[in-house]
Amino acid sequence: MGRLSEKTVLVTGGSRGIGKSISLRLAREGALVAVHYGHDPVAAKETVAEIEAAGGQAFAFRAELGVPGDAAALWAAFDTALAARGAGPGLDILVNNAGITLPKMISDVTEEDYDRVFAVNVKAPFFVIQQGLERLRDGGRIINISSGVTRIAFPHIAAYAMTKGALDTLTLTLAHQLGPRGITVNAVAPGIVETEINPTLQDPQTRTRLAALSAFNRIGQPADIADIVAFVASDDARWVTGQHLDATGGSFLG
Ligand code: NDP
Repeated sequence: MGRLSEKTVLVTGGSRGIGKSISLRLAREGALVAVHYGHDPVAAKETVAEIEAAGGQAFAFRAELGVPGDAAALWAAFDTALAARGAGPGLDILVNNAGITLPKMISDVTEEDYDRVFAVNVKAPFFVIQQGLERLRDGGRIINISSGVTRIAFPHIAAYAMTKGALDTLTLTLAHQLGPRGITVNAVAPGIVETEINPTLQDPQTRTRLAALSAFNRIGQPADIADIVAFVASDDARWVTGQHLDATGGSFLG
């Protein structure tokens, strides 16, 4: 019996990158994992296949985030897919992981850029949570994937950093509201992690420079983050709520 057997988990953007690793890890703990994706069904199918090959349970479902009505569409697709598996309604753990970056200095950010990054990274999780609260069982978990850039200044991703700051504030506020239901709400904040969101890591010089930001002198891997999420999702973390968990591998310690 895994720590999450009998639990249903939804990981937004659970198909690729950090989200994929979270999906695999939570499935290994025994959860039924709803692997959400937006545009890449092949990656989502592969993630589900990997989970099933390892003896876990998962299904994929699509909903584009950052467009009007996205949260309602996501929950409708989730409800349908869950029912199609014969699983009971509702869920225990919601991981708001899907996100996009915006690698621009403040001077280069257009209104369109700004609206887009806020639509996907802030508005979508806000309404996904709002409309998910009736489905989330008491004693559950909300885990928001934030970023170390809410604590460390990175001017070349100013608007993106602001979106994650908003998510941290939502985390704190909701933790206060949902405590009486035994639901914990926490933010896990990665530093630089090796995923497709960071194409500059292909350049050896950039890679060396960015690795040196961590006390461990290496680039973070998706599993480094997934293991922390697994702890926050578990009963072991029942007394931790409203927190920003630094998962930057000790970046900028001094
Ligand atoms: P990836 O680009 O590797 O994966 C993003 C995931 O989100 C994919 O599953 C993608 O699915 C989904 N997604 C993106 N946009 C949308 C959309 N509009 N609608 C629906 N789904 C969408 O990103 P990472 O794994 O690197 O990042 C995951 C989270 O971690 C993000 O919130 C990011 O901000 C955060 N983070 C990442 C860091 C890093 O260095 N990698 C550092 C700090 C935080 P699909 O392709 O099907 O659309």
